[in-house]
Amino acid sequence: MGADPGPGPGPGAGGGGVLVSEHAAKESANAESKQTVPFVAFMLPSSQTMGTPARLECVCARFRFRAMWYIRRMAWPGKTSAGGRDCESRLRKMTKEGTLYEKLPELKTRCFACAHRCLIANGRAGICRVRFNQAGELRVPSGYAAGLAVDPIEKKPFYHALPGSQACSFGMLGCDFHCEFCQNWISSQTLRDPQAGGEVVEISAEQIVEVARRHRALSVTSTYNEPLITSEWAVEVFRRAREAGLATGFVSNGHATPEVVDYLRPWVDFYKVDLKSFNPRNYRDLGGSLEPVLSTIRLLYGRGFWVEVVTLVVPGFNDTEAELRDMARFIRSVSPMIPWHVTSFHSDYQWQNRTATSARQVVRAAEVGHEEGLAFVYAGNRPGDVGDWENTRCPACNALLIERVGFTVVRNELRSGRCSQCGAAIPGVWTMEDVEASRAAGRRDVAKLDIPKHVAEAEGKYGLAPGDSTGRAG
Ligand code: SF4
Repeated sequence: MGADPGPGPGPGAGGGGVLVSEHAAKESANAESKQTVPFVAFMLPSSQTMGTPARLECVCARFRFRAMWYIRRMAWPGKTSAGGRDCESRLRKMTKEGTLYEKLPELKTRCFACAHRCLIANGRAGICRVRFNQAGELRVPSGYAAGLAVDPIEKKPFYHALPGSQACSFGMLGCDFHCEFCQNWISSQTLRDPQAGGEVVEISAEQIVEVARRHRALSVTSTYNEPLITSEWAVEVFRRAREAGLATGFVSNGHATPEVVDYLRPWVDFYKVDLKSFNPRNYRDLGGSLEPVLSTIRLLYGRGFWVEVVTLVVPGFNDTEAELRDMARFIRSVSPMIPWHVTSFHSDYQWQNRTATSARQVVRAAEVGHEEGLAFVYAGNRPGDVGDWENTRCPACNALLIERVGFTVVRNELRSGRCSQCGAAIPGVWTMEDVEASRAAGRRDVAKLDIPKHVAEAEGKYGLAPGDSTGRAG
């Protein structure tokens, strides 16, 4: 999964899949004046369809996920999940035949929704556990949500896409990684970890889009769990979103295949990739591989998606200056105009005893990105504590163009996507007209990069044997 930290007020809120009343959410948003997050999460629209109690009247948005977890159990006693196998068997009923797979002899299937490319025998599931082979047909998740919220697009984070607008975010369950510091672990790890207890409600694509329209969101985003493994459902929602005149976004770990990137291209406008590390050993430990993530960043940029990259800076994991430089250099080699968000870790999931990343540490990471030639670097999850690193400046004349505090846009001086001082074009999709133009623009020129060589060098640098950086099964 990516960086968007679940339905809730933002950094520190944690958790995923909690649906709270609009009234309560607005009240909590008022209480969040320091954070200045106009957080709006809400109940799903139809209790009839969902078959669950319709109201959860008062939830304080400052509650950490533990409190949210108990509240959720009270709200949906009939739907409480034990996680693990119980949840898995119930989710099997909310599926449809997938698109991103091929049928093989002896009722086997090969899934290519993510870079694991699982070979799945009849009756078995893939590494993500949400896609499974039923009599030679790959069944994939459909028709439910584990989290749904309307909040600022800056929370995803997208800073160069429709700034200051609201995004309607939805998530399902499951992930192809198993990060110990996951900030959405209730959604992403439910099928592996009985403690997670993620819950779902049935919902249609039309209902999600209706929620977006009702709350005046300009975009719909697939996030919270890893959206690649639920790509077919995302496309179903995005088809409806496009019909309703909305933009669409993906918040993903980038552990993709060229096939899924091409499948998504007609339907996804913004794509946020979580570059977690440049150390192949780290990726192996999280259950993935570095190489497909690097290839995906390049591929997404070349295919014409609007791409932003985020790195959660975790002390003792990926925070050395050398590694931060490696990540920044790689992004610059694709394009120096790709925004890079370096965000502050807070203790979560199995890494409760780790200290949070300080404001000073994320500022230093941002400085490294700037020194390496990236035009747009942002320090996140430390609202008001990182000085100018929340703002967008013109790379040509340094004029302040977009001033932010946390997820709030305080001032926007862009003029038709250009610097109001010197007139330089600022890369981004700033308006719905830009979104339309980017859909029609087609592919971008992108440098040829020898990514296997990058990874081989990184393996040597971080003490792995050549080729020893393949992800472990989750
Ligand atoms: S882990 Fe990836 S390749 Fe395997 S079944 Fe899930 S989405 Fe498909």
